[in-house]
Amino acid sequence: MGLSLAPTAPVLGAATLLQCREQLGTAAFVHGTGRCAHERTCVGVVVHVVMLDGVPVQSPQWFHGQLSQANRLFEPIGVGFEAVAVRELPAALADVDDRSERDHLGRDDHDPGVVHVFVVRRLADVDIAGDEIRGVHWRDRGVPGRRIVILSSIAGDMTLAHELGHFFGLPHSRYAISVMNKTPRDDPRWSQRSFHPRELAIMRRDRDRMLSDGTLVRRPGPRAR
Ligand SMILES: [Zn+2]
Repeated sequence: MGLSLAPTAPVLGAATLLQCREQLGTAAFVHGTGRCAHERTCVGVVVHVVMLDGVPVQSPQWFHGQLSQANRLFEPIGVGFEAVAVRELPAALADVDDRSERDHLGRDDHDPGVVHVFVVRRLADVDIAGDEIRGVHWRDRGVPGRRIVILSSIAGDMTLAHELGHFFGLPHSRYAISVMNKTPRDDPRWSQRSFHPRELAIMRRDRDRMLSDGTLVRRPGPRAR
């Protein structure tokens, strides 16, 4: 009986193998990007990624970098993030050009309790024609309370942490240490930037508010799995 699988192996054509590899590639956004460790509050992230010719506009490794930085910066408030699902978006959504396109991104595919992150090829600056930005925390103007994060494929690895800072209630700031400070500067280096203690206090408050109103649902920790 064990031999019954053998004849199927040669039947796998090149197309099927390619398909398998692509499926693994997309699944790596979930399985290759790390899990919550010991944080008291583990938050699920649903990754929506634009596919071009069967290939995501950015790699799972790149997303792993985004999540790693977010987890490092949110550690002081006991919050960790892990990808719980990946959903593929059609090539027609590769470039997000205006406010209306931001509003509609994932509107019909929005379950509560998690953070929805959209990875697109290009994200236009809606304030300066012709410019593009690396990421945005966006409030859907048509669905009260619905908020999403959009990352452009050009985003550096601190962009998700910055946008999640907005998700957790922060405006831009002037603190030298903070990733919410958009003023160009060499000191401190990117790798040494984090959130200011006053920002952490706001984030703790918003964490608790979002957990109590259902915006976020705490995922079971590693020991419960
Ligand atoms: Zn910002």
